[in-house]
Amino acid sequence: MTKPSSMLARLHQGKYYHKSSFLEAKVGNNPLWAWRSLLEGRKILQARIRWRIGNGKSMPVSWMNRRDKLRWHYTSNGRYSVKSGYAISRMLVRNGVLTNRCIVGECSRRNLDKKFWKFLWGIQILGKLHHFLWKCAQEVLPVGSKLGLRVPGCRGSCPFCGEDETIPHLFFYCQFARVVWYGNPLQLDSGAISRPSFIQYMEVLMEKWNGEESWPDVLRLMVFILWRIWKARNDKSFAGKVWSPGDVISKALVDALEYNTAVSQGVNLRSGVHESNSRENRVPRWCPSIGSLFKINTDGAWVAKDGIGGVGIVIRDERGMFIAGMAKKLWYMGSAQIAEALALREGLQFALDTSIKGLVVETDAKGVIEDLKNSKNMLVKVEIVNEDIKQLAREACCEEFSYAPRKCNRAADAVAKFALRVAGYP
Ligand SMILES: [Zn+2]
Repeated sequence: MTKPSSMLARLHQGKYYHKSSFLEAKVGNNPLWAWRSLLEGRKILQARIRWRIGNGKSMPVSWMNRRDKLRWHYTSNGRYSVKSGYAISRMLVRNGVLTNRCIVGECSRRNLDKKFWKFLWGIQILGKLHHFLWKCAQEVLPVGSKLGLRVPGCRGSCPFCGEDETIPHLFFYCQFARVVWYGNPLQLDSGAISRPSFIQYMEVLMEKWNGEESWPDVLRLMVFILWRIWKARNDKSFAGKVWSPGDVISKALVDALEYNTAVSQGVNLRSGVHESNSRENRVPRWCPSIGSLFKINTDGAWVAKDGIGGVGIVIRDERGMFIAGMAKKLWYMGSAQIAEALALREGLQFALDTSIKGLVVETDAKGVIEDLKNSKNMLVKVEIVNEDIKQLAREACCEEFSYAPRKCNRAADAVAKFALRVAGYP
């Protein structure tokens, strides 16, 4: 629905609803199983989808006369997620709108061993490896056996031994994997444990080491080994590059060593930021822009009890000289983040009104900057404002939006507070 030009949407539209929208489409004659499943899922969407107002007459929030859009009402970014859909589907089952059959897949997932998921999310490790383990556990890693599900009659074979490539085979039962597991310091005879799924296999290993002092290190090494087996498999399948079991072991050991070194030096492995340095050595200060660009600092102050907000705008040139400033009171804002987004929009409009072009924008609202850089997780409440911001930014030749700590945004902050004071808020 949000990507009508995608291959899947165009395929279904051509076959089932070329004269209507997806929300109005009928089952049709001789429908495929996949189409029936989509229509079952549509019941969840129909029950809880909402319009995002772009140019609605009752609430004109966009300056650019944008068209209205459909948005999922139960996530902050307005996009459908399995988690929120599951919660709604449970409610619809209770109300008799859906049958339990529609959500049996989610039920079986819920019944998986909670201990394993606790273990999975508790591992201190890089985010990409968390994601990789999650894919193994959900059996969605694209190994050869998965190919058969998409292409009937076609099953990919293991690049190491030619056997049927399932996830347990690739990581534990293949001769290649067995040598890797036995040849590393863990000395594990992986073929001696017989389990049908990745989760059940990992549970056996958890039982074996859990409670021991070395468990976190053992666990991390196991994850690095799994990761390197996967890399070796992909290199062999797609690039013809051959790794020996010894290569896999030595790379996994280097991974583990680098991890320990990084942790001991205070690097946050999720963000990549060197925490010890960033805390002690840097005193944040406002800096002018580089080159011949203007810098706009914006800030939005907000009074929660009345929803009243103040906007502060300060524009300075590349020497740090004050060029222009503006204070403005705003009404009916739902959150601090909306106030910050509105302040940024006001700042760009103010720059255009004063014929200032070629600029960078700085604010202490990290969430607003993240929304502008990654629209996937954008709060639906500020989405329309952010679309205006992007358009104004193009018109004002804005080269960058950046976050600055509050200490670097004092001037705009003082102006925003001034706007509130003028409005009668001390
Ligand atoms: Zn194999």
